[in-house]
Amino acid sequence: MTGPSDRDWVEDFTHENGNYMCQCVTCKEFFYGHKRRYRCKLCSDAEVVRRQNLTDDELIIELENMNKLFAKHLEEFSKTTWK
Ligand SMILES: [Zn+2]
Repeated sequence: MTGPSDRDWVEDFTHENGNYMCQCVTCKEFFYGHKRRYRCKLCSDAEVVRRQNLTDDELIIELENMNKLFAKHLEEFSKTTWK
């Protein structure tokens, strides 16, 4: 046991469900944090910095893509759940 790494969400540890082993969707490394987290702290920080550096146009495109993705998930979800 090497103690918390830079990828761990140390501030989650005191919460209920805050000390789960999760796999990061970005770097595929394992980290500890709340069981609903899907990105390690390193990748999350990198993502925040990346978004802060986007221009308005890039941000709009990004949001539109997220909307499309969300609509797609919702469609698939409704297909599988309410047959
Ligand atoms: Zn990561």
